[in-house]
Amino acid sequence: RSFIESLPKAELHAHLNGSIPIETLQELAKEYTIDSDDGMSSTLPPDIQTGLARLQSGPTLYDINSFFPLFPAIYFLTSTPRTLARATHAVLDSFLGPTPSPSESTGQLPPSSPQCTYLELRTTPRATTALTFASYLDVVLAEIELYPPEKAALIVSIDRRMTVDVVKEIVKLTIDLKEQGRRVVGVDLCGDPLAGNMHEFAPHFKRAKEAGLGITLHIAETVTNPASETLHFLSWSPDRLGHATFLNEDAKAIVMRDNICVEICLTSNLLCKTVSTLEEHHIRHYLRNNHTIAICTDDTLPFRNSLPGEYALLLATPPLGLGLSEAEVERVAKMGMSARFGCGSGPGPSDDAVTVPDT
Ligand code: 5GP
Repeated sequence: RSFIESLPKAELHAHLNGSIPIETLQELAKEYTIDSDDGMSSTLPPDIQTGLARLQSGPTLYDINSFFPLFPAIYFLTSTPRTLARATHAVLDSFLGPTPSPSESTGQLPPSSPQCTYLELRTTPRATTALTFASYLDVVLAEIELYPPEKAALIVSIDRRMTVDVVKEIVKLTIDLKEQGRRVVGVDLCGDPLAGNMHEFAPHFKRAKEAGLGITLHIAETVTNPASETLHFLSWSPDRLGHATFLNEDAKAIVMRDNICVEICLTSNLLCKTVSTLEEHHIRHYLRNNHTIAICTDDTLPFRNSLPGEYALLLATPPLGLGLSEAEVERVAKMGMSARFGCGSGPGPSDDAVTVPDT
């Protein structure tokens, strides 16, 4: 096995519906039938067909705003318990390898090579004609719980476009699930980076934190996110931050002081054009300061990336990659493992800063 394959790696920032293998989505499109009494098959609506064609050809993203319109086509195909379970199963399989089966106890290698050792998969509960928020989470958790706790857990995403009543309902559901012993370990804030009144969401994230759930927030993702919002989010005492691309000096100082892990998604940032080159990427700041980071994929479906591929970017010679040594990459992987909500020991920097070569 290669160096990257053999490293224990945690994937802590992967969105379920953004990580469905394209083959699975194509199968779901082919099998699409109206869930009606007569079970008659139906063709996909034209806008959904167009959306799928974009995903199949590898979408060109002009900026982050052309990313969110990719999701309606995906959601159309994952809106029943059966199709959501299929999609979740395929995502888990693509990250972790197949569910543990008797063949593993005979020492045979699983057929596909896992991308990571541990996965915290996140998803936004959706109510559809066939699903409630509760049944959505139950379907996803049932698939996650086929893996042992040291391999997989769920983070429940709150979308900034939700109403505050829905946020309240979903946070309550998430806390109830945790109290029932289900495999839910955290709450995330995601969705259109400029939507919503985040002051209204604050008490609900506070409740989630008090209930022992990990908190991760998509923060300062675009240059237009106001600094006041970023500082407000940091007052929620988050455990991890998604992207954190445009932190000002005050915000950076808090992140460093409180040792808040930053989830780094290199390919996602480059393709969504929130960062122009690896040379300018904020990962360099955290590496130099030996600050806890977790290397993550974000959405493997539109970005066509993988966790080993993201680690390969750390190793590759500049300007293609960051030019880190194997020992440095190993330390970065350990940081990611230490920042798990599920069975982590809590983030904590180790030894020296990483030497980032100047390009
Ligand atoms: P889901 O939560 O439905 O399983 O995964 C897809 C959803 O995750 C998208 O509709 C979007 O709300 C959110 N998402 C995926 N990637 C990103 C990202 O890079 N930034 C933000 N802010 N949200 C994202």
